[in-house]
Amino acid sequence: MNLAQFKRRGYVKEATPIEYLPNFSKALGGKVNVYIKRDDLLPGTAGGNKTRKLDFCIADALEKGADTIITCGAVQSNHCRLTLSWAVKEGLDCYLVLEERVKNSYKPEASGNNFLFQLLGVKGITVVEGGSNMMAEMEKVADKLKAEGKKPYIVPGGASNAIGALGYVSCMEEIMNQMFTQGLNFDHMVVPSGSAGTHAGIIAGMVGNAINIPVTGIGVNRPKPKQEEAVYTLANQTLELIGAGVSVPREKVVAYDDYVGPGYSLPTDAMVEAVKLLATTEGILLDPVYSGKAMSGLIDLVRKGHFKEGSNILFLHTGGSPALYAYLDCFRK
Ligand SMILES: *Cc1c(COP(=O)(O)O)cnc(C)c1O
Repeated sequence: MNLAQFKRRGYVKEATPIEYLPNFSKALGGKVNVYIKRDDLLPGTAGGNKTRKLDFCIADALEKGADTIITCGAVQSNHCRLTLSWAVKEGLDCYLVLEERVKNSYKPEASGNNFLFQLLGVKGITVVEGGSNMMAEMEKVADKLKAEGKKPYIVPGGASNAIGALGYVSCMEEIMNQMFTQGLNFDHMVVPSGSAGTHAGIIAGMVGNAINIPVTGIGVNRPKPKQEEAVYTLANQTLELIGAGVSVPREKVVAYDDYVGPGYSLPTDAMVEAVKLLATTEGILLDPVYSGKAMSGLIDLVRKGHFKEGSNILFLHTGGSPALYAYLDCFRK
């Protein structure tokens, strides 16, 4: 697909590694081979998947003459950290609207990403109640800044619109090239599924390039039908933006909700096990909210015999390890 028709900033200069995880695969019984796509190593403060999406979104903001970026997320949002990081790099001001999805969860003195918001020089933080209309809240901030003569640009939560999802179409094409040049053939791919842009971009990249590898999304928030609908809609909007001339069959979109636990960002025992297992077998850090829960899903599916023996499975590591430092207690016990 022709992604060269879209402006981007060039934040992603080279392919992130695909690594085989021999010790981790063995710890899961040795029946399948698990590989990992290291998008946690992308550039931008502490890396992570939002860099690929922001590469396109910030280019759009600059083209529209913006001097200020506004975005939103949860109180320990990786997306907010990376948006702020790239805004700093571009010389743009950045304002954040944080949603307390868990009541009273915003602590100004908290560690993890919250600490990095301060360190990176955020211009302003507005904290709103869980369930607020985040776009409306960001527009309020934008109106105030416009009245002061600023030119704000709103990046939606997770940079999960069709422009942002182009970053993961590009990632899928990068994986396809790596498979060819490295002689790897994956039977299955497992991806975290949150605000949906990552999962939708991967699906759009698969369908648009006629690659028939099944993708399993692991949801971290919404119930399965809602999450799948969000991914399906965004994947099709993305293919339409590209002008691909194809659309996603509904059955290609699978996003399990069995690994969310008590709710978004709330720890589960399986997440703790997954984070500890990858750390102690391969020295790779996951995160408590997304990649840890997604990996707990992969582990459970392997144990249940969901994947055929001898399968090669690619796990997409979307980053997020700074959030670990806001969850010390659940790893110490
Ligand atoms: C945002 C995020 C995700 C989810 O990606 P979406 O595009 O929002 O679905 C996964 N992992 C990490 C570490 C994230 O920050």
